[in-house]
Amino acid sequence: LSSAEEDYDFFYLVLQWPGSYCDTKRSCCYPKSGKPDEDFGIHGLWPNYNDGSYPSNCETGTPFDPSVIANLTSDMQMNWPSLACPSSDGLQFWEHEWEKHGTCSESILTQYQYFQTALNLKQQANLLLLLQDAGISPDGGFYSLKAIREAIEGGIGGHVAGIECNVDEGGNHQLYQIYLCTDTYGTDFIDCPTLPKARCGNRVEFPVF
Ligand code: 5GP
Ligand code: 5GP
Ligand code: 5GP
Repeated sequence: LSSAEEDYDFFYLVLQWPGSYCDTKRSCCYPKSGKPDEDFGIHGLWPNYNDGSYPSNCETGTPFDPSVIANLTSDMQMNWPSLACPSSDGLQFWEHEWEKHGTCSESILTQYQYFQTALNLKQQANLLLLLQDAGISPDGGFYSLKAIREAIEGGIGGHVAGIECNVDEGGNHQLYQIYLCTDTYGTDFIDCPTLPKARCGNRVEFPVF
């Protein structure tokens, strides 16, 4: 592709609820720095095409370099923790996300800007607060998918977002990942042009963490 504008159409900012990542048969492992705060964490910032397909592993020749994002590290540990086993300091997760997704937006965002943009967007959305303001809290209770959707979309300017569930050990559908969409610069939230598989029922558990 010759022009940067054609490299991808939009970003998914994918946020994960740690209670739902951990509350499955596979379980999870807290980072070496300890149990993360009770908050959504970043999974990734993913370049995507409007038709639902996406570029990956763009092999631009820019390896993940922790020294480039050194002054973002504590922010990353707090807001982009890795919960996979075995316990880690997050670097492998961030490297994976950079290699698979970040390299595909490098025509627009440098490595530093890529991570900074994800952090800024997460803060801008403030998902947990806007859910709690709507009376939807991670208390192990069940909430209607409609109420969750209205709270999230209302909190980001009325834009269409994606809501993905997974299944806990008891077979309950629970709130797992939220997909917010932005323009190619990661500046403004937009209506998601296409949505991932939802796998949610009408009633969704919001597990504690
Ligand atoms: P899963 O199969 O667990 O949904 O996704 C596995 C991985 O594929 C994700 O972690 C992500 O890297 C990539 N992926 C899945 N769906 C999408 C998508 O709709 N857009 C993009 N950009 N990546 C995706
Ligand atoms: P994806 O290709 O789905 O973007 O990347 C997910 C990869 O990152 C998997 O290999 C997964 O094991 C690893 N990973 C490490 N920590 C986490 C985490 O906290 N959440 C998720 N979803 N994946 C993680
Ligand atoms: P990956 O192959 O990318 O490591 O992981 C594949 C899928 O398994 C991803 O959806 C990732 O989130 C999930 N996964 C990987 N490791 C763990 C883990 O330790 N705990 C949980 N709950 N899921 C994991």
